[in-house]
Amino acid sequence: MRDTLDFLLYDWLRVEALLERPRFADHSRETFDSVLDTCERIAREKFAPFNRLADIEEPRFDGERVILPASTHAAAQAYVESGMLAAAQDHDHGGMQLPCVVEMAANAFFSKAGIGLGGGLLTSGNANLLMAHGTPMQKAVFANNEFAGRWFGTMCLSEPQAGSSLSDIATRATPDGADSDCDPLGPRYRLRGNKMWISNGEHELTENIVHLVLAKIPGPDGKLVPGTKGISLFIVPKKLVDTDGRLTGERNDVALAGLNHKLGYRGIPNTLLNFGEGRFPVRGAAGAIGYRVGAPGDGLRCMFHMMNEARIAIGLGAVALGYAGYEASLQYARDRAQGRPVGPAGKDAAKPPVRIIEHADVKRMLLAQKAYVEGGLALALYCARLVDEQHTGASDADEQATLLLEVLTPIVKSWPSEWCLEANSLAIQVHGGYGYTRDFAVEQYWRDNRLNMIHEGTHGIQAQDLLGRKVVMAGGAGLKLLGARMQATIELALRREGLAPHAQALAAAWQAVDAATRTAWASADPADALMNAMPYMRAFGHVVIAWIWLELGLAGGDAGSARGGTDNAGAGRLQALRYFYAYELPQAAAWLAVVNARDPVCRDMRDEWF
Ligand SMILES: Cc1cc2nc3c(=O)[nH]c(=O)nc-3n(C[C@H](O)[C@H](O)[C@H](O)COP(=O)(O)OP(=O)(O)OC[C@H]3O[C@@H](n4cnc5c(N)ncnc54)[C@H](O)[C@@H]3O)c2cc1C
Repeated sequence: MRDTLDFLLYDWLRVEALLERPRFADHSRETFDSVLDTCERIAREKFAPFNRLADIEEPRFDGERVILPASTHAAAQAYVESGMLAAAQDHDHGGMQLPCVVEMAANAFFSKAGIGLGGGLLTSGNANLLMAHGTPMQKAVFANNEFAGRWFGTMCLSEPQAGSSLSDIATRATPDGADSDCDPLGPRYRLRGNKMWISNGEHELTENIVHLVLAKIPGPDGKLVPGTKGISLFIVPKKLVDTDGRLTGERNDVALAGLNHKLGYRGIPNTLLNFGEGRFPVRGAAGAIGYRVGAPGDGLRCMFHMMNEARIAIGLGAVALGYAGYEASLQYARDRAQGRPVGPAGKDAAKPPVRIIEHADVKRMLLAQKAYVEGGLALALYCARLVDEQHTGASDADEQATLLLEVLTPIVKSWPSEWCLEANSLAIQVHGGYGYTRDFAVEQYWRDNRLNMIHEGTHGIQAQDLLGRKVVMAGGAGLKLLGARMQATIELALRREGLAPHAQALAAAWQAVDAATRTAWASADPADALMNAMPYMRAFGHVVIAWIWLELGLAGGDAGSARGGTDNAGAGRLQALRYFYAYELPQAAAWLAVVNARDPVCRDMRDEWF
C-alpha cells in the first residue's frame, strides 16, 4: 500500500504544493514521509499482530468493567504516543498542523492492520467537533485532554428506536437547577435516555470517557419539539471533572446496559448506554450531568459539521480493509499451486500444477480487487485533499472544494463500503475453501468491512442524500462542477494514446448520469425520483471511479507502454484502468436504465405480496 500512497500523494495529488501555504510552512516532504513511516511501523508492530486476537477475545463485561485484551490497551497507547490524535490541530493545541490528506493517508495504515483496535478516530472526531463549536473552556478541558489521549471520546446519536431517523430521538435534557446557566463548563443539564450502538462507550483504556450526546430540550409544556430542530448537543463525561480537567471523584449517571456482540470490528466495545436512570446518582439525584455545546436546537448542525471528514474516514477504512484482503489474496495466489494451463500445454497431468495466479479467472479476481481498492483509495485521498482546499485554499478554490465535497461525500462513504467489501469477498474466493475458514485472515476482513454500509448513514440513506439533495442543491451546481472537472480530465486523456477510448467512454457515461438525474426528477416528486436512488448511486459511483482511474492513468505518464513494461507499478495501474473500463463501467448503463425507465417495481411492491 505504501508505494500506492506515495504515488497518489506526491505524483497525482501534488501534496508538496501545500507546503507553500502558511499553515503547512514548517513541513516538508521529509516530515510527511516521517509521519507515514512512523504510522506504518506502529501499525505493523502494535496492531497487525493482534488483529486476530482482538477478534477472538471479544470485549467482555464483568458487571463492573469492560475487559479488553492487553494488546488492545498497548495498541491504543501506541496510537496516542504517535501524536495522531491531534495531527491536524494547531501547534498551540499540541498538534502537528498536518494536512488532512496526509493525516488520512497515515491513518489508513492503522485501519488496514487492525480496524477494530483502538478508537482513535472517534476521539479525534469528537475533539475536532469541540474545537469547532465548543467554548474556550470546553476546548481546554475536554478537547485538549482528548488530543493528549488522556481521555477518549464517543459520538452518541443513535437510540434503540431512532437510527436513520434522528429526528425521533427521545433523550431529554432539562436545565440542572437555578444556577445551570452559570457553570464554567457550559450550560448544565440533566440528561435522561438510552443510546444504542455507542462505539467505545465503556472501557478502561483511558481514565475518563467524553460522550458527545444528542438530546432534546423540552419546551415550556414539557413536550419534546418534533423533528431535528429540537436537537441539542451535550458533553457528558463518564466521570465529572473540574475546570482544570481534574477528576472530581464523582461518577456521572451514565451506566452500561450491555454490550452488543458484533459480526466484526470486535476490538471496539459497542454499547447500550443508559443516561440518567439513577444507577450513579449525582449530588443525590438521578440524571446524567451534561454541558451544552452550541445553541439550543443546533445540535445536529454541530454534529454534522464533522460529517464530511467522518464519512471520508469511513470510506478510507473500507478501502484499507479491502487492501488488506487484496494483499493477502495476492500472496496466496502466488503461493498456491492448483490446476494446469488451458489448452495443449495443460494436458500432461504428469507436469506439476501451476500457481493459481496464472489462471485468467484468478487474475480477474485480483484485478477487480486492485481496481476497487486503489480506485477507492485515490477517491478518498482526493476528497481529503478537498478538505485541505476548504481550510487553506484561496477563496474560489475553497468554494469549489465545498461544492465538490457535497456531491462526492455520499460516494466516498458508500462506494468503498460496497465495492471494497466485494473485494474482500473476492479475496475469500481466491483462497477457495481455505478462505472460508478462520485459519486465514480474509474472512475477518470481510466481517469487519460489512459494517461500513451500515453506520454513519446506511447505504440507502446515502443514495437518498445523493439523488434527493446533493445533485440538485444550488441548482445542480455541485453536479455541474464535477462534470467540468471530468471534462478537463477527458480533454487531456483524449490527447494521450491508449487513454483516448477511455476518455470517450467516460464522456458518454457522465452524459448518461446527467440525463438520468433529470429523468429521475422529471415529475419533481421526490417519491418518484428516489424510488430508484440505489441504482442511481451505483452508476454515479462507478462513473466517478472511472474518472479517478483516468486521472491516475494521466498521472502515471506513459508507464508500462512506452517503457516496455519495466515500470511494473505503472503497468499494473494501466491494466487496472483497462479492467475498470472493460468490466465495470459498462454496468453503469444497466443501472441507469432502471432510473431512466422510472421503473416503479420496488415502490409498487406490496407488503402482503411478499
Ligand atoms: C458496529 C456499530 C457501531 C456503531 N457506532 C455508533 C456510534 O458510535 N454512535 C452512534 O450514534 N451510532 C452508532 N451506530 C449506529 C448506526 O449509525 C446505525 O445502526 C445506523 O444509523 C442505522 O440505524 P438503525 O440500526 O437503527 O437502522 P434503521 O434506521 O432502522 O434502518 C434499517 C434499514 O432500513 C433502511 N431505512 C431506514 N430508514 C429509511 C428511509 N427513510 N428510507 C429508506 N430506507 C430506510 C436503512 O437503510 C436500513 O437498511 C453503530 C452501529 C453499528 C452496527
